[in-house]
Amino acid sequence: MSGKVAVVTGSNKGIGYAIVRGLCKKFDGTVFLTSRNVELGKKAVADLEKEGLHPKYHQLDITDNKSIETFRDFIKKEHGGIDILINNAAIAFKQNATEPAAVQAEQTVAVNYFAVLNACEKLFPLIQNGGRVVNISSSAGHLSKIPSEALRSRFKDPNLTIPELSGLMQQYVEAAKQGTHAPEWGNSSYAVSKVGLTALTMIQQRMLNDRDIKVNAVHPGYVDTDMSSHKGPLSIDEGAAAPLFLALDADDSVKGQYVWFDKQITSWDGKTPTPY
Ligand code: NDP
Repeated sequence: MSGKVAVVTGSNKGIGYAIVRGLCKKFDGTVFLTSRNVELGKKAVADLEKEGLHPKYHQLDITDNKSIETFRDFIKKEHGGIDILINNAAIAFKQNATEPAAVQAEQTVAVNYFAVLNACEKLFPLIQNGGRVVNISSSAGHLSKIPSEALRSRFKDPNLTIPELSGLMQQYVEAAKQGTHAPEWGNSSYAVSKVGLTALTMIQQRMLNDRDIKVNAVHPGYVDTDMSSHKGPLSIDEGAAAPLFLALDADDSVKGQYVWFDKQITSWDGKTPTPY
């Protein structure tokens, strides 16, 4: 057991990889690069080592209970706890994907909402008092992406509980299976999953207030990664800037917020901010 620990999920490539790079440079502690695929993860670590950086590696698939528990037990035994947790791992179907809406809805919500929630429930007991959690949301996670006013009211209810939020996510998946989702939920399963993650952030903050843990959601900007089909104008290091700010530098008063890539706190349920 020694020193502080930072963990980044899904960090073998893209924004997560750049967050690991930034943490290795700025964080005084051990940085864990994690990935669902061991080979890809170890290759990423080797690449960072060529830059003189030394992240540690551990396998972590957030959709796999056993993987999460193995990682949790390892961290508990070897390090005692986690000081920074960056929930970065996510999936997105491409615009021209041919999978039916029901499949896209179920899979996207399963990874981007339910798997993140499950990983948090297993890892939060390890977060040290004073720790920081950064949930990588998106501009698509702005509440305005949900067309139904009634649903928006549910999402922003300050007393919303996790079981109720999970119920809403499940309700969306069922609507997608019936083909009735579009008028109320819109046509993007990615947006619904990220609105869910942003709403989850607010609830998690309420639950962790008494342990002095800060939880924030962030839109990293439109970034040149596989997920964006390399259309985003920002580099992965630029995309990592706001998540790193929240993990390391933001004032302690910044908690339970939705933060834009320019590091500004943004109204989640207000006017839609300028996209990128
Ligand atoms: P990438 O597709 O480049 O990287 C996603 C990472 O998540 C990969 O390492 C991937 O692993 C990993 N991952 C996926 N599923 C799992 C899983 N079950 N367990 C563990 N890891 C998993 O995406 P980006 O870097 O672009 O995205 C990073 C974050 O930023 C995401 O949350 C995304 O939604 C968000 N975001 C991105 C934007 C952009 O413009 N790129 C804009 C707004 C938000 P593998 O290599 O094995 O697939």
